[in-house]
Amino acid sequence: MSDMNSIYRQVIMDHYKNPRNKGLKEEEGYVLCHLKNPSCGDMINVESKIQNGLVSDIRQDGQGCSICCASASIISETLKGKSVKDALNIIDNYLKMVSNEEYDKSIDLDELAVFEGIKDFPARVRCASIAAQALRKTLEKEEKNA
Ligand code: ZN
Repeated sequence: MSDMNSIYRQVIMDHYKNPRNKGLKEEEGYVLCHLKNPSCGDMINVESKIQNGLVSDIRQDGQGCSICCASASIISETLKGKSVKDALNIIDNYLKMVSNEEYDKSIDLDELAVFEGIKDFPARVRCASIAAQALRKTLEKEEKNA
């Protein structure tokens, strides 16, 4: 990751060393998704809870490389408190950004913007994506059940 902007790298390392919303609740009202990234050994669990159309809580747990763990932490922090619709929209655009696809730059990705440089490291795109994909699955499941 030596080509990545050093401020971005610092944010990623901070979230890797001090993960936010770490540890699962496994309580009623939480929906869990588990995803693996075989290419690098990442394993991630994401739990979310929806109340009144808002993502009231996001928890994450797992093990993996710094990119994977930091993205789970940043996603949990960035999307907590957002409406389900906004959260899904941010996830969608974030996943496009890291995959080097066209995305809506008018959407505020907040700290998730630190992963913009991942597109230049194709082997790490999945590392940066699995937590977002897991969260998308839990939100879609909950929306259906609502
Ligand atoms: Zn990884």
